[in-house]
Amino acid sequence: MAEYWGVKVEDIFNSMQERFRPEGAKDLDTVFGYDIKDEGKWKLTVKNNEMKIEKTDDLSGSAAIMQADGETFVGVNTGNVDATNAFMGGKVKVEGDMAAFGKTGKLFRKFVIAKKEMTTKDYLADMFATVVARFKDDEAEGLDASFAFDLGGPDGGKWTVFIKDKVCTLTTTIEGKPTVTLEFNDAKDYVDFILGKIDSQSILAAGKASAKGDLNMMASKWPVLFEKYKDPMASNVPQQELIVLKKIISLNEKFSTGPVMGKFLKGLKEKKIYANKCPTCGRMQVPPREVCADCRVRVNEIKEVGPKGEVRYMDIVYYAMPDPLTGQVRETPYGSINILLDGCKANETMPHFIRKDQIEKIQMGWNEKKGTRVRPVWEENRIGDIWDIKYFEIDE
Ligand SMILES: [Zn+2]
Repeated sequence: MAEYWGVKVEDIFNSMQERFRPEGAKDLDTVFGYDIKDEGKWKLTVKNNEMKIEKTDDLSGSAAIMQADGETFVGVNTGNVDATNAFMGGKVKVEGDMAAFGKTGKLFRKFVIAKKEMTTKDYLADMFATVVARFKDDEAEGLDASFAFDLGGPDGGKWTVFIKDKVCTLTTTIEGKPTVTLEFNDAKDYVDFILGKIDSQSILAAGKASAKGDLNMMASKWPVLFEKYKDPMASNVPQQELIVLKKIISLNEKFSTGPVMGKFLKGLKEKKIYANKCPTCGRMQVPPREVCADCRVRVNEIKEVGPKGEVRYMDIVYYAMPDPLTGQVRETPYGSINILLDGCKANETMPHFIRKDQIEKIQMGWNEKKGTRVRPVWEENRIGDIWDIKYFEIDE
């Protein structure tokens, strides 16, 4: 049997079962015949999303019979011969129901010549040869558009994909006035882009590609109209099993809060709130800190304040940060308040939260104006933690 581009006619037929796409065979119940000059005849039966191919001399019952010579048949199937040109030039003939025969285009994944590597030229041939099979006609209702590809460099070429009346056709030239034309200085960049090796932004930014016409058509409509191109080489690479080790690492850590914060947390356990008072400026810090950040002196004097006070400021939080202690995101909205506890003055406030259902009722203090009076709501089992105060609520 003769070979064309390293492929025999029977290679195409013998690989049909493997290349069959059941999703392309929906609602199809038909017999197709292939009559390949000097090679033989094959009968393709498609029914119930399944197919059968057999070499036979009897093509009776076929809805349509395709006739071609071996070179043309292999050429069309491998992307080396333009199908439309071959048909127009009479190299491919179809007897019978032409429309039914058109449906065979979606039945199979493209025939790929088994190779160790695919060149840019191989990829381009495969990408455009699969365009019609990847076309989703139900997305093309009422669309009349043409997409031109002008790809430069040593492996480049020109293609135009036409869509009209829900039919997709392809030429290996740029014809008429395309709806949009995509130009790449080097066809290799186009191949890398389609394979996802480089992104469009960096190609465009580098001035390696440009588009003319209705860009939206290329950017938004093309991806909807066509199934994504699948790299045939990707399926040849044996998938490596990923080794995953799932483990939650738990570190039982303890750290000292220090004498000052420790005193404050211990106080919460006893339902007491401690501040400390700067010996230099006299301001109260709550929670207490080891030094006064204003005066930069050690602060030793501890004083009990509150536990009641007035709200000076409140933020209603709609976008919650994760809780730094638990990593959990709080339910929004919540009211984050600064409370001026009794015994403190000016801006010597302590941050905490207001009871969820009272957010609306809170008045903020402002200058001489008093804010809403609040009291802490204590956790029953206190452990010396800031959440020993569950929240503050209005003190009525
Ligand atoms: Zn101070």
